[in-house]
Amino acid sequence: MDHSYKHAITTQTYSTLIKTAGKNLQHVCHGLSRESGWWNDPKTGAPIDPKTPFLVPAKLMLCVTELSEACEGDRKGLPDDKLPHRPMLEVELADAIIRCFDLGGALGFDVGGAIAEKLAFNAQRADHKPENRAQAGGKAY
Ligand SMILES: [Mg+2]
Repeated sequence: MDHSYKHAITTQTYSTLIKTAGKNLQHVCHGLSRESGWWNDPKTGAPIDPKTPFLVPAKLMLCVTELSEACEGDRKGLPDDKLPHRPMLEVELADAIIRCFDLGGALGFDVGGAIAEKLAFNAQRADHKPENRAQAGGKAY
């Protein structure tokens, strides 16, 4: 029996677990964000349409800022300022994921399903195999 991660991710059990976890994360992250008013105009209270021009790039940029904070936390070896018992890197990674699932929820996506499918796809990719990565023009990282 193959106990590798590459095998596991192609099984229905793991795929379903990841899809379900993603669905729950998206439900909670977007639900909390919406409930906290991040999807309403702060001045008028009017709902913000996720299809509003430039809204998606703005929300994506907020994901990037969380990753920038993660980088800074790692670079300086800092504890998180809000959860000081955890490394800043760890908490900012969480913030980035929270923002991704919030946006995915706003757009009605199935990010968990996409993660499960992409992990299974990546597990089979020829260009991700170490022997192909070591070839000229292969992916160094
Ligand atoms: Mg943050």
